[in-house]
Amino acid sequence: MNGGSYMDKKILVTRSSLPPLEEYIDEIKGIWDTCWMTNMGPIYQKLEQGLKNYLSCKNVELYVNGHMALDVAIKALHLTGEVITTPYTFASTTHALTLNGLTPVFCDIKPDDYTIDENKVEALITEKTSAILAVHVYGRPCNVTKLQEIAKRHHLKLIFDAAHAFGVRLNGEPIANFGDISMFSFHATKVFNTIEGGALIYSDDSLTKSLENLRNFGIEGPESVVQVGLNAKMNEFAAAMGVCNLRHLDENIQKRKHAAECYYERLKDCAGIRMIDFQDDCHVDWNYSYFPIVVDEKAAGCTRDDLFKGLQKENIFTRKYFFPLVTDYECYRGKFEQYQLPVAHYVADRVLTLPMYADLEEEDVERVCNVILSIMGK
Ligand SMILES: *Cc1c(COP(=O)(O)O)cnc(C)c1O
Repeated sequence: MNGGSYMDKKILVTRSSLPPLEEYIDEIKGIWDTCWMTNMGPIYQKLEQGLKNYLSCKNVELYVNGHMALDVAIKALHLTGEVITTPYTFASTTHALTLNGLTPVFCDIKPDDYTIDENKVEALITEKTSAILAVHVYGRPCNVTKLQEIAKRHHLKLIFDAAHAFGVRLNGEPIANFGDISMFSFHATKVFNTIEGGALIYSDDSLTKSLENLRNFGIEGPESVVQVGLNAKMNEFAAAMGVCNLRHLDENIQKRKHAAECYYERLKDCAGIRMIDFQDDCHVDWNYSYFPIVVDEKAAGCTRDDLFKGLQKENIFTRKYFFPLVTDYECYRGKFEQYQLPVAHYVADRVLTLPMYADLEEEDVERVCNVILSIMGK
């Protein structure tokens, strides 16, 4: 092997999954006959049906991206006032609330799986609370049972930002079948992608009209606009990418699983590095969407930032995901200082997501781990 070029090879934190080119061309060919490029065309329909089957879900609506899907979900559920949510997430979750005039109320997370701490939710409920918006961070399921109980008891809507959780099951049950609505993101960097795209999964049929109207300017018929709506439609080229990628998804998740197991094996005896405990968890069929480590600087002998920089020097690009916390963004500075979020701060200050994608080679994982161990002086 050419040692030089092997060590120089850039390893990025993620790499989008693409189907074989011929497969994609085959899928989009028909568009040149029909000239039907968007507005819920035949490929959209095909993907929707494919996803219903794959996810074992009753209702699926597809959108231009996950963020717009979340926006539509919030509007369709007529949320008002305050929404209890997590600060440990991507900008989208919080922006979707604030741009809809809602006040996010931040609940701390749990130190084991980084999802919202269901035991701290009830204390935050006021007469203004209309919903809980929780995130299946890294595809690890929230405590859906407890959150459903709380939502029911207090007559709150329950939305899951399941952007990371496509294909995940909990005790055999598809993750999107919990709560009122779940949102998936099909962004290029996610486990399953449609280039840009998103979906809403829900069980209450009475939501269908609104979820569809909001996607297309509120237009219900040629001469009837019934709702003030958005333009959030998924186009045919994006849907075609989804149709192709869906065929390879299970294989890709298996490849991610192998990479995750390699990481786990190499790092499991490393004091100061905490990983998601996925190997002993028989309740969750995970999608291995990310591989976060949390670096305890005392035990590890180095900080998260030492690892970030040291890896970068070796052409290995990791991501501080999620850092900073949403509550520390410039655009929200000073607005949410009243919340006690010690666990979220602890994790955000120490987390590093390592390279993870289907085509990550075993030798790449090996190289990443060797660099980590050498920075730690091991
Ligand atoms: C990616 C992501 C989104 C937004 O999805 P897009 O498809 O990029 O709009 C929302 N929430 C979380 C947690 C995400 O990771």
